[in-house]
Amino acid sequence: MAVIGGGPAGLFTALLLKRYGVADHAVVWERNRWETAGFGVIIPAESLGLLRGAVPHLADSVALHMARWEKTSVGRSGELTTLAATPPMAAIARSTLNGLLWEACDAEGVVLREREAPKLPALSSSYDLVVCADGAGSLADRAGFTATVREVGPPYTWLGLDQAVDMLTFLAESTSDGCYMAHTYPFSDSASTFLVEGKRALTPADLSALFGLPVHPEPDREKFGWRKFRERVVRPWSRSNIVLVGDSAHTTHYSIGSGTHLAFEDASTLVESLAAADSLPRALSLYEETRRPVIERFQGLGRVSAAWFSQVDDVFDLPLSRFAASLLTRGGRFGNHRSHE
Ligand SMILES: Cc1cc2nc3c(=O)[nH]c(=O)nc-3n(C[C@H](O)[C@H](O)[C@H](O)COP(=O)(O)OP(=O)(O)OC[C@H]3O[C@@H](n4cnc5c(N)ncnc54)[C@H](O)[C@@H]3O)c2cc1C
Repeated sequence: MAVIGGGPAGLFTALLLKRYGVADHAVVWERNRWETAGFGVIIPAESLGLLRGAVPHLADSVALHMARWEKTSVGRSGELTTLAATPPMAAIARSTLNGLLWEACDAEGVVLREREAPKLPALSSSYDLVVCADGAGSLADRAGFTATVREVGPPYTWLGLDQAVDMLTFLAESTSDGCYMAHTYPFSDSASTFLVEGKRALTPADLSALFGLPVHPEPDREKFGWRKFRERVVRPWSRSNIVLVGDSAHTTHYSIGSGTHLAFEDASTLVESLAAADSLPRALSLYEETRRPVIERFQGLGRVSAAWFSQVDDVFDLPLSRFAASLLTRGGRFGNHRSHE
């Protein structure tokens, strides 16, 4: 079986395929193994449970590298409030997570190729199954799959901070262009992700001055920029012997902190479906029937959450406690879904 992409979706799929004997031979192509894009990601407790159930030693290593917290803070123009009753959360450096998954695949006998994957038609004719786990710019888009992409939420930029903040903290600052909102959380004992939303493409220096913290872009400065989140919907997720998992199949607004978890769940459901069904078409249908309702629910939550951040100016002047409550209850019941990032 061939897997395009060595991110969370591809590596976890390949690992499970080999570990549970669903594939005798599994190959992953990853063209950019050492890319550090995006600092750290929030991983909910369910993800660790999923990893632990399937590959306990991997869950132990991931847990060792995580930063954890149990409260969330909301700050605005120098005032701060901390809410005690949020579900426990944790985050990990994206490069560390992918590195641990890579090592686990290697130990399990997955063949790992650090280069661009061959073209889809070539893979499709040489392998029993091709798993597209190549993220939001998937090769599947040029191979007959139909993707609908739309921008959701405000423009954002992804920065880092060389200190660990205490917990997930939202910081709102007023400017002549409206509110700039930072989502910051620790992902190790010495570093935090610092994602900022706002209307104008301020520089890292402007943002450091605005928030009073020395934030910086990723070390490869060519990547610094502002963008809008692109929600991706693909229908269907398989054709012939090609199937999509993770961001290649769907993206969900980052403010509900779920993309990595959904990628792990896709991998797990796909491998279970392959093991359970008596033919490849039935396995791929079972995978999609099981996962699509879950993904649609998360994409809905993501849209509502993104809309809140787009309209933050409407609630900016509420008393801080009400502003914080509005932020943490956006789109649903308090604590019922993750409120990253
Ligand atoms: C701003 C932002 C913040 C986010 N924060 C969080 C968060 O806190 N928590 C969370 O769970 N999720 C978060 N996400 C989402 C999360 O990053 C993704 O959902 C997750 O990484 C999906 O994993 P994946 O393996 O499907 O795709 P990716 O992580 O994109 O991996 C795809 C891999 O495929 C490789 N690849 C692509 N094409 C080829 C090719 N032709 N040949 C070889 N290799 C190829 C790429 O190099 C890449 O390594 C965030 C996303 C954004 C944009």
